[in-house]
Amino acid sequence: MNKNAEEKQKEQAIEADVEAKAQELEFLRGIVRKGILELQPSFDKSGISYHDAAPLLKDKDAPAVKSLLEGLAQKGTLKSKVVDRVLICPHCGSPEVHSKFTCPRCNSESVALTQLIEHKKCGYTGTLSDFSKPNGLVCPRCGVILTSDPMDYRIIGNFYQCENCGNRFDKPEVKHVCQNCGKPSTFQDVKYEKVFSYRVSDEVVREIGSTLPILENIRVFLSDKGFTVKLHSEVAGTSGVKSSFAVIAEKGDTRIVVDTSLEGNKNDIVALLAKKVDVNPTRALILDLSGGAELATLGKIYGIDVVTAKADQKVPKEFEELLATYV
Ligand SMILES: [Zn+2]
Ligand SMILES: [Zn+2]
Ligand SMILES: [Zn+2]
Repeated sequence: MNKNAEEKQKEQAIEADVEAKAQELEFLRGIVRKGILELQPSFDKSGISYHDAAPLLKDKDAPAVKSLLEGLAQKGTLKSKVVDRVLICPHCGSPEVHSKFTCPRCNSESVALTQLIEHKKCGYTGTLSDFSKPNGLVCPRCGVILTSDPMDYRIIGNFYQCENCGNRFDKPEVKHVCQNCGKPSTFQDVKYEKVFSYRVSDEVVREIGSTLPILENIRVFLSDKGFTVKLHSEVAGTSGVKSSFAVIAEKGDTRIVVDTSLEGNKNDIVALLAKKVDVNPTRALILDLSGGAELATLGKIYGIDVVTAKADQKVPKEFEELLATYV
């Protein structure tokens, strides 16, 4: 390869890398702004997929999404956790694999679990099917109908019987049949894979959370109303400890503090309550970006206004209405 071609290849590699990184960042922003901080796997014929991730990665198929998530987990941007293990077809990668029992001698799937029974009185021993007659269990030797009270017979044990070759055995072979491609596999060639959930790391949530469009929209809105507004800033409370808030807005004697809750986690509003007690603002408000209802109930008890909103929306009507009651 001549030098020019080599350089060109290098350039292309760098370009592809930059593009991949931009897509990763765009993807992380997308899920965090939707309030999705954890991606859970789901299974169908075509493979393992992450439904919450897919809409943001439309150009990628399931394996490509999987490898992107794995890559982000390696970088520490996502925290992976093993949540399950599944059988995967070695031919097509589908997790829709059903298992069958087969005869170790002739490979037939027509095997059935049966019991070996002994008639106590005459000592005749045979399989359950030998005894089964339309009127119940009948001893093939002495013709007596067996009763279970008092117990006329003894179950000696369970075993498998092949309906094809008659072979009797205690452990059948297991065959896995793929519901997608139809091909069989054994325990030796089927894949038994770990399945992960992925959680956005706290640092990334903080980083992305600080640039949520709704906060910027609120900053502009409050500034227009004559407030001095700071995003992600601190105020010292009566204890002397500084507390940080997503939004601090001040005008005259009025001080409004706002926090966000991406997942609707109770701890978010409890933390805001603790800061509110120390800082004693005119009003404290939390933006619930999760779409849940738990915070609203707690807000009433704690004296904190709860406004449900989306991370990338304009200033909610409810926020405007509440602000009118503050000043
Ligand atoms: Zn008998
Ligand atoms: Zn057989
Ligand atoms: Zn398959």
